[in-house]
Amino acid sequence: MTVVTRFAPSPTGTLHVGNVRTALHNWLWARKHGGRFLLRIDDTDLERSQEDYVDAIRADLAWLGFDIDGEERQSARFALYEAEFDKLKAAGRVYACYETPEELDIRRKILLSRGLPPVYERKAADAPVPVGVAPHWRFRLDHDAPIEWTDMVRGEQNFEPKTMSDPVVRRADGSWLYLLPSVIDDIAMGITHVVRGEDHVSNTATQIQMFAALGATPPRFAHEALLVGTEGKLSKRLGSLGMASLRDAGIEPIALAALLARLGTSDPVEPVTSLAPLIEHIDFTRFGRAPARFDEAELALLNQKILHHTGYEAVANRLPAAITAARWHAIRPNLMTVAEAADWTAVFDGPLTPPPVEDMDRAVLDSAAAAAPAIDWSADPWHALTTAVKEATGAKGRALFLPLRRALTGRDHGPDMAELLPLIAKDQAIARLAAS
Ligand code: GLU
Repeated sequence: MTVVTRFAPSPTGTLHVGNVRTALHNWLWARKHGGRFLLRIDDTDLERSQEDYVDAIRADLAWLGFDIDGEERQSARFALYEAEFDKLKAAGRVYACYETPEELDIRRKILLSRGLPPVYERKAADAPVPVGVAPHWRFRLDHDAPIEWTDMVRGEQNFEPKTMSDPVVRRADGSWLYLLPSVIDDIAMGITHVVRGEDHVSNTATQIQMFAALGATPPRFAHEALLVGTEGKLSKRLGSLGMASLRDAGIEPIALAALLARLGTSDPVEPVTSLAPLIEHIDFTRFGRAPARFDEAELALLNQKILHHTGYEAVANRLPAAITAARWHAIRPNLMTVAEAADWTAVFDGPLTPPPVEDMDRAVLDSAAAAAPAIDWSADPWHALTTAVKEATGAKGRALFLPLRRALTGRDHGPDMAELLPLIAKDQAIARLAAS
């Protein structure tokens, strides 16, 4: 069996962190099994769907590195839905309903006031049909047996169809609700695994009967616990946290993927630099039922850790020309984002404003300026320089290293000077020491 998964966003907005997590898990599962990962644009709601969002979704998936093996659009598939709908109608599995929302609301209230569950009550077959009213359509649940499946995250699931309302699948104006087209597509696209949020669990119960009614075996399902913000609920912030703002904040796509691959499991988040190890480790049994907490600060920290061992090749096209491979290697432990690398070009090549020198550092700097010209810059200039200054002045430790670092880099903190100094031209270094 070839594994086929799909990511099915509605293009009524851009992707947020929660959608991306769903996309990632579907992608990882397909890749782990040498299968296919499909993008399905769920644009049955023609009014709310926008082409800009479709483009943005594709661009975000590409940025994240989730390559797709095919794309379908629901708006191009209405003829198929119509044909399958006709079959269900002929078989009596969908039926016309005429209640207005107000009538349904009254019925619900009556049932609740009697202490009964507010389940939709089917009309008798010979109930009068109102004249001149277009019906909406419900799927007739089969009440004979419980609906059961083994969820890859939640384990054994069991629903009693008698306690559920027959779901509305089509509106009176002919437009489609999400439930039935999704099943028709999952069958036509050969989807083997549906990975989505647990907000879809009760949809799944009804959809399992739709698969059967259409003569298909349902796919496997994984319903994941929802993502919550640090304050413990599905915050507005999280729901709107899009890829553009993460990109602007300097978050690398691999950092987001590394975090989202592990959130909700008790496995540690690892600072990986490629998706490959995440593919290998995806396992739905590792995910718990408790909401997974997404913390932007944790993401920023992970991003930083990942940069510390990100190779030059991976970022070269985003670096200023002055940042060579050796310079990248020297500065990466000091970066929070790739963009910050640009701040270091002045440290390497100038111009640099020398910081004010404290009197007690004067001797060290004078001695360094005197010793530097004779030092072989191609060997280990930092070692040679500090040894010479130490011998001449007796300074050691912080009193030796800090004034030199300040004069040579204009900063109090930064990369290992032994690695940094050979990357600053000798005449630049001499001039900086002399100017101090
Ligand atoms: N378009 C649906 C949604 O975004 C898809 C759900 C599913 O994966 O079946 O909720």
